[in-house]
Amino acid sequence: MADVIERLGEVRAAIARAADDFGRPPGEVSLIAVSKTMPAEVIIEALEAGQLLFGENYVQESREKWPGLRERFPDAIVHMIGPLQSNKAQDAVALFDAIQSLDRDSLAKEIAKAVQKLGRSPEMFVQVNTGEEPQKGGVAPPQADAFIARCRETYDLPVTGLMCIPPAEDQPSPHFAMLNRIAARNGLKGLSMGMSADFEAAIQLGATHVRVGSAIFGARG
Ligand SMILES: *Cc1c(COP(=O)(O)O)cnc(C)c1O
Repeated sequence: MADVIERLGEVRAAIARAADDFGRPPGEVSLIAVSKTMPAEVIIEALEAGQLLFGENYVQESREKWPGLRERFPDAIVHMIGPLQSNKAQDAVALFDAIQSLDRDSLAKEIAKAVQKLGRSPEMFVQVNTGEEPQKGGVAPPQADAFIARCRETYDLPVTGLMCIPPAEDQPSPHFAMLNRIAARNGLKGLSMGMSADFEAAIQLGATHVRVGSAIFGARG
């Protein structure tokens, strides 16, 4: 457990260093602690150390963990960063403060319906499949502008940023740069990019949110 607190401190320090090195104002880069598969007692260690922003990948797992955690830590903020099935849209809107995996019309439509029904409107990030990998979620880059416009106009969703997961075998920086360009031309401020292995490069290229799991919580079993 002490390990989590120590590693969290190290990651925070590395983020501050990278922000300073690359001329980013302090406070412009938020750390999302990715707690998928981690039990509640490990997450509590991070919460007690002052980490309030978390990322989760699975609706069912989050439904089991977070209502109890939120009761104890009402200021916690949880972002959905994993692929989302349309039939889980309502659960996701009920559970999360942001959904970062918005990537297709069928999902946008179900989220919009849930927002209406529940009167709750999580922040939205459109996921872009910058490497155009068939097994990965995200809208393809050539379709991104039109999809973002439909999210805003057709579905009336509050899109504030973009998210990407570069192909594991690629240099991540060209993917981060591409995401930055798509965000800029669509007037979006949020850039969720960079994980344990590459968050410094993401900060250099404009990340506002880095999603760090294993560097904080250790390898996932
Ligand atoms: C698991 C996951 C992360 C965290 O990855 P680490 O390499 O453990 O830091 C970040 N983003 C997404 C979308 C993930 O699924």
